[in-house]
Amino acid sequence: MAKMYYNQDINEGLLQGKTIAVIGYGSQGHAHAQNLKESGHNVVVGVRPGKSFDQAKEDGLDVKTVAEAAEQADIIMILLPDERQKKVYDEEIQPALKAGKSLVFAHGFNVHFGQIKPPADVDVFLVAPKGPGHLVRRTYEAGAGVPALFAVFQDVSGQAKDVALAYAKGIGAARAGVLETSFKEETETDLFGEQAVLCGGLTSLVKAGFETLVEAGYQPELAYFETMHELKLIVDLMYEGGMSGMRYSISDTAEWGDYVSGPRVVDADTKARMKDILTEIQEGKFAEGWIAENENNRPDYNAYKESEAKHQIEVVGEKLRAMMPFVNEGKKTKQEEVVG
Ligand code: NDP
Ligand code: MG
Ligand code: MG
Repeated sequence: MAKMYYNQDINEGLLQGKTIAVIGYGSQGHAHAQNLKESGHNVVVGVRPGKSFDQAKEDGLDVKTVAEAAEQADIIMILLPDERQKKVYDEEIQPALKAGKSLVFAHGFNVHFGQIKPPADVDVFLVAPKGPGHLVRRTYEAGAGVPALFAVFQDVSGQAKDVALAYAKGIGAARAGVLETSFKEETETDLFGEQAVLCGGLTSLVKAGFETLVEAGYQPELAYFETMHELKLIVDLMYEGGMSGMRYSISDTAEWGDYVSGPRVVDADTKARMKDILTEIQEGKFAEGWIAENENNRPDYNAYKESEAKHQIEVVGEKLRAMMPFVNEGKKTKQEEVVG
């Protein structure tokens, strides 16, 4: 089994006397900044004026411009949207990167695909929570944590690995487990996971199921409960006890249907297409396309977003969720619901 690091394996003292700049105060940023501060570290948030800036102030943090925060800090964690990192890095962070500082990421995209080329005299590593930012915060407050990956890209100080682990402990990740990876492995598996399974695979599966029922004449409200609402209950069981744990709780009829029908929905052809998706990620084609889409001001992204929001499952779901206020309990802001 791969080596997992937990709180007792990690010396958080390495962060003492250091200033950590958290650049960006969105899904991940708000969680890292508040968790690190509550773990006893010196945190400064760097963000442009606007909503996040005001929120960080309201949360009692020391908030500066990106350039000021980067200048002041020893450890600079970049938690901006991946597609904006290069520009902000070139203009506001790179000038502040003096020898001996650490440049940190929560996803390897920009370094792995050559968008950001760090200078040779700084440590470069990543600490990537394997969960949405709002859970990184919520679990920390509850005394728990979200697992994380760490990877060292450049180790000038000889301490990059230990500092990465200390950072992971500071955000609460080492309560759940921290695993070493490389920038390449983290970037490629993160992109694959979100495209093929977690986000892309899942939304397409749910829509196909919903449409199949509605097209066959069943009520859309019922189809929503069946293919979307109940999903969370099933996923919670898998999260707690794996597939066997989930299958223990469902009826034997459901379990039999799982075995005989599931592989007809996701079959060898699906897996072959997953392999194509992985190859395109590995060859940099996905990154190239996404970078070009952003350079063109996101014409396709905006079109997809608009048409997906109009899908019947979204329209029906919004009405049904309004009648179940408890489903939103514990949810904070819309922005924190992002999965990276
Ligand atoms: P968000 O989109 O939630 O947050 C972006 C933040 O950056 C906001 O505070 C935004 O401020 C700020 N920002 C945007 N543009 C600029 C700019 N030009 N100058 C200064 N600040 C700016 O990002 P995420 O937290 O989703 O992602 C951050 C990183 O974490 C990414 O590398 C992502 O891959 C990674 N990650 C994300 C996960 C997640 O759960 N979302 C999971 C694991 C990794 P404003 O309010 O002004 O727009
Ligand atoms: Mg991601
Ligand atoms: Mg991810």
